[in-house]
Amino acid sequence: MSSRDFVYSKFTEFYNDSSTVISTPVSFEQREFAYLMFKERFMVRHKRFESMPIFQNVLAYTAPSDVYHSCAYYDKPDLEMDKKGWIGSDLVFDIDADHIPTSCGKIHDEWTCQTCEFSGKGITPDECPICGSDRFSVKTWPCDLCIASTRVETGKLIDMLIKDFGFDVDELHVFFSGHRGYHVHVEDEAVRSLDTLSRKEIVDFVTGLGLSVLDRGVKEKAIKGRTRVVAKKFILHNYGWNRRLKAGMVKFLSNVTTENLKTFGLRNNNLLKNKDVILRRAIEEGKWDSIPGVSMATWLKLAEQVKTLESANIDTVVTTDIHRLIRMNGTLHGKTGLLKTEFPARQLDDFDPFTQAVAFKKGTAKVLISEAPEFRLGGATWGPYKNAKVVLPIAAAIMLILKGRAEVVVN
Ligand SMILES: [Zn+2]
Ligand SMILES: [Zn+2]
Repeated sequence: MSSRDFVYSKFTEFYNDSSTVISTPVSFEQREFAYLMFKERFMVRHKRFESMPIFQNVLAYTAPSDVYHSCAYYDKPDLEMDKKGWIGSDLVFDIDADHIPTSCGKIHDEWTCQTCEFSGKGITPDECPICGSDRFSVKTWPCDLCIASTRVETGKLIDMLIKDFGFDVDELHVFFSGHRGYHVHVEDEAVRSLDTLSRKEIVDFVTGLGLSVLDRGVKEKAIKGRTRVVAKKFILHNYGWNRRLKAGMVKFLSNVTTENLKTFGLRNNNLLKNKDVILRRAIEEGKWDSIPGVSMATWLKLAEQVKTLESANIDTVVTTDIHRLIRMNGTLHGKTGLLKTEFPARQLDDFDPFTQAVAFKKGTAKVLISEAPEFRLGGATWGPYKNAKVVLPIAAAIMLILKGRAEVVVN
């Protein structure tokens, strides 16, 4: 039995198990469904199903590697794109370690150009630096650090959705993606009809794109015939990004050291020396310009850095695409064998994907591992391995096989 056959048989068991619970998306009959065939590797899409039990039968019969439904609602979800009759779409956000620079990515992520075989570590480039091709084979790994960094970004996003957009914490649907990130869905009536441009505005707010801190109380003035930007006053009020910048500055200044000032390109040691005065006078009392030794240029530079720290690093394309397919809650991820799993937004910091999103809990398998970093799964830690033959719990064996790190050993 090949390794993929082995995993396919486990996926088949999962979709045929009566204890498997797959959530029914709201307005089921208006959704487009899609799934990636496990062996044939092609996507079946533009499907409409009468009811969830019928779709579950299809899943049990086909055991796809990945299952999706549209974020959109359509009159006729099974017709071609332009004939579907778009009614509306959920507002969805995707936070994925693939797009976030992490220190561990340099260690466990690898890409190889499929044209010239040039390879590198870390985030996959848009184009091969040698031949310009955009086709890569990629080896990634979901680790605790990756998950932790996406969790931080998700936390910032959730905070904005609640405090700046006014959504109730309980109407946010938060999911572990099944790989190495999170999804946030808003299914509120208020967002359904938003077009791509409106969604782009939301993306810009969340990522801080186009937010110019120079606008904040800084005025232009003609000096000797030339228009110059002259710092008049640097003031932050208590709403939206102003409040975020303020809170971010408090956080930044409270923990400031000479070292991190340098990393952020700030050489003004008065920030460090006078941080208590700054925190009190500028931030509490709003007297920004009365701090000796801290120029407007320094304020602006600091605000620019804080903006980067406080914005949420989301995959912007997902949110603006009103026809997007999104992984279905409760189904398996074809790159890990983990489940896309919903949990309450309030439990973001407590939810542990490597125990709570494990689908395969029984049995073991013998695998030959070419190379794998140390990893945590199902309450235990495994590895690191190099050319090792070991018996592992099914969940760990499946993840290694799907990640191209191991082959099943048949006795
Ligand atoms: Zn190349
Ligand atoms: Zn990592």
